[in-house]
Amino acid sequence: MQTCSKCNATSPDSAQKCVKCNADLKEYSATVVALQRMQANPRVKAIRVTVAHDACPHCYELMQTYKKENVPALPHQGCSHQNGCRCFYEPVLEETAIVGKVAN
Ligand SMILES: [Zn+2]
Ligand SMILES: [Zn+2]
Ligand SMILES: [Zn+2]
Repeated sequence: MQTCSKCNATSPDSAQKCVKCNADLKEYSATVVALQRMQANPRVKAIRVTVAHDACPHCYELMQTYKKENVPALPHQGCSHQNGCRCFYEPVLEETAIVGKVAN
């Protein structure tokens, strides 16, 4: 599901535009707006993609820490969960907090 940052309506993963206000979700979904805020914040060193506990294998595989300028778009287009991709971005504030694998 994608949440519109303008009107708070939820649209399916595959939607390009908000089903209610027609905003471009590539620009105005809540996850995109949150990501842009993190990328603009110099204290954020990297961005982690976090998955729901019952996420599908595709999403689990993409649960990684990414460089700020190299973050994949959400929702994941290959998600196979019945409720769709519910992954979200999480800021990593310190270099030392980057644990696990970092994608190149
Ligand atoms: Zn909307
Ligand atoms: Zn998924
Ligand atoms: Zn996902």
